[in-house]
Amino acid sequence: MNMHIPLRVLQEGEDAAVSSFSPTQNSAVLADNHGRRFSYLRLSITDVCNFRCNYCLPDGYQGTDRSGFLTLEEIRRIAAAFAAMGTRKIRITGGEPSLRKDLPDVIRVLKQTHGIDTVALTTNGYRLTQQIRDWAEAGLDQLNVSIDSLDPQQFKAITGHDKLQEILSGIEMARELGIGNIKVNAVLLKAWNMNGFQHFLDWLKTTPVTLRFIELMETGDNASFFKSNHVSGESVKQQLLDSGWQAKARGPHDGPAQEFSHPDFSGDIGLIMPYSKDFCSSCNRLRITAKGKLHLCLFGEQGYELRPLLAEEDSQILQQHIRELLSHKKDSHHLQEGETGATRHFAMLGG
Ligand code: SAM
Ligand code: SF4
Repeated sequence: MNMHIPLRVLQEGEDAAVSSFSPTQNSAVLADNHGRRFSYLRLSITDVCNFRCNYCLPDGYQGTDRSGFLTLEEIRRIAAAFAAMGTRKIRITGGEPSLRKDLPDVIRVLKQTHGIDTVALTTNGYRLTQQIRDWAEAGLDQLNVSIDSLDPQQFKAITGHDKLQEILSGIEMARELGIGNIKVNAVLLKAWNMNGFQHFLDWLKTTPVTLRFIELMETGDNASFFKSNHVSGESVKQQLLDSGWQAKARGPHDGPAQEFSHPDFSGDIGLIMPYSKDFCSSCNRLRITAKGKLHLCLFGEQGYELRPLLAEEDSQILQQHIRELLSHKKDSHHLQEGETGATRHFAMLGG
């Protein structure tokens, strides 16, 4: 049932202290009933994945229907509608987005959308060396590569693939191609990669990327893995502060990651700590699944079908529907209480 609660729609220029949008753009910025503004969309383009990360898809992809994902035209319409509502950044995710042959076209379509400043991609890196040139040429602005260990054997044990060295070469290629703001995502796993923490730090001494440690999150499928492997991000934060890392100033539109730098290191560190107090207060993102459902939270109970509204070129009805749905967005997830919503694993939603 859709509740038609009127939303607070901030106009350009309102609350100038926190607005970074160009005054020349005349869009109404999407905001929820808790005062959060949504300028960032995570768009999944497939839920298929070829890796078997032990915290996500330990038995590999089990889906039977590998078709029916959003078409290029539907992606174009989603991007245009969100851009008209103030979205400025779209991250392509999955499953593994590089398994879609038309990924360069997806990047190009998003990049050509009026109002979208930043097109980002999160990938497991499997096809990085072969495809990074095409992605760069299509207009990719930001790249996140998931690397949970810098030890080749351990990387293989976590993901099922002996690809670490090749993926690291792909990151070098991306740097040489001038892709800015490369981030490496590493999920903190007690029994698996915490002994490699120093290895990550040594690597950052000379590698100018942002390493993002992500606290392991519980999902419907990984409850017992979570219990034995969850490491508190707060303990890592304390370790960083004790060894001279300094918290970077936060911008008004920054998402939930906390960033740290150190004068002796080329790279920076980001910490994503979903179990910390107030994590959700800086939420700035919405999610769309590969089959066109809007998810208001990574841990929500349901997705909302948008696909029927994507048949129309005119996106006014779609925009109005999304605005109405946003009134269902809760102020916070309840992960601390083990409430994982309908999310069995992140490959379903794109993380
Ligand atoms: N397949 C791509 C990849 O791994 O980069 C994109 C999709 S993946 C779901 C997006 C991110 O979610 C990855 O960095 C992955 O490590 C992270 N992730 C997956 N499951 C997670 C969990 N249970 N807790 C924390 N992060 C998780
Ligand atoms: Fe695949 Fe990414 Fe999940 Fe690993 S984290 S199994 S690469 S979707």
